Amino acid sequence: MTTRNLHKRSLAVHAGTRRSQYGEMAEAMFMTQGFVYDTAEQAEARFQQVGEDEFIYARYGNPTNRMFEDRIAALEGTEDAFATTSGMAAVNGALMAVCQSGSHIVAARALFGSNLYLLDVMQRFGVEVTLVDGTDLAQWRAAVRPGTTAVFFESVSNPTLEVIDIAAVAEIAHEHGALVMVDNVFATPVFSRAVEQGADVVIYSTTKHIDGAGRALGGVICGARQFVREVAEPYLKHSGGAISPFNAWLMLTGLTTIDLRVRAMADSARSIAEALRGHDRLIRLIYPGLPDHPQRDLAMAQMGSGGTMIAMEVAGGKDAAFEMLNRLDLVLISNNLGDAKTIVTHPATTTHQRLSDEERATLGITPGLVRLSVGLEDPDDLIADLRQALG
Ligand SMILES: *Cc1c(COP(=O)(O)O)cnc(C)c1O
Repeated sequence: MTTRNLHKRSLAVHAGTRRSQYGEMAEAMFMTQGFVYDTAEQAEARFQQVGEDEFIYARYGNPTNRMFEDRIAALEGTEDAFATTSGMAAVNGALMAVCQSGSHIVAARALFGSNLYLLDVMQRFGVEVTLVDGTDLAQWRAAVRPGTTAVFFESVSNPTLEVIDIAAVAEIAHEHGALVMVDNVFATPVFSRAVEQGADVVIYSTTKHIDGAGRALGGVICGARQFVREVAEPYLKHSGGAISPFNAWLMLTGLTTIDLRVRAMADSARSIAEALRGHDRLIRLIYPGLPDHPQRDLAMAQMGSGGTMIAMEVAGGKDAAFEMLNRLDLVLISNNLGDAKTIVTHPATTTHQRLSDEERATLGITPGLVRLSVGLEDPDDLIADLRQALG
């Protein structure tokens, strides 16, 4: 089937499908670590020249993984993709594959805790890392220099939902030949137009909206074929970063419904944000789709949606935030996001616990801050639960 000119919803259902000689309807799960050769000569030939459909070992590639990679690449508008064991394996793989001692990375400061940790590790190996306020283009301009290897940022930051201008940062980076690597988890493949906005490499933790049911870890690196197959893949296949075929199969089928799920979640997020805005127990409510979000216009231009996440600051600090969390009935306390189940997280004591008070303050992660990942329940039930928990 030719999938050219199809819309995202059609690509999410059909792109990348490979059928075996049995003509199965559902995508097959090739739960195999290796492949059998007819002759020793064939084995030799495969190892010399790994072609499109020639698999040799699941750490290098697998037909189910390849279906998932081709489908997400089609959705993202990139030539290729490599699927990894987790989102962090994807970030690690993309950065390690391009860096060596003396390389320079410029990254936005507002990052997921493990992303910050990884940048610390890279500095141990002689990679220079400059952190900037990702919303301040002047800081990007001052930090990126000739020879900068890559810029790295979350297009919508976790947990304070700052939106970073992909096109503007890409222009600055490309002037100096730096690769633009975007952790696009909060934007989701549904609202992403990162490649047309200038991103070179788009990274997802597929653990989030792509699985969508909180079952398995996974990650993916999307980019040009040369980058994916000649730069990222050699590092990932030799360092053991490839996703399990079982998890790839979950992600592949997760993609078939992602458009419907994420749009419904974003509609609910908007309704919840509107219903709770101005609540007298909230000091602030952050949702990129609301008119009072400082980057609302950018969010709309970049993603066409405010997304599925809300952050709110409860008056009364940590005690009040904990009280609210403990009173929630339908909304679950956890730290995943993008799940069908609505999840509340207290970043200061969980995902961003490792940071100092000062670092948290710089990032706006106050003791009263609560992050909400809106799921697929009826929004009226969610609003009622949140209202009763706020008291
Ligand atoms: C969850 C997450 C990651 C890491 O993904 P894992 O699948 O948990 O390894 C990276 N970046 C962002 C923005 C995330 O939300």
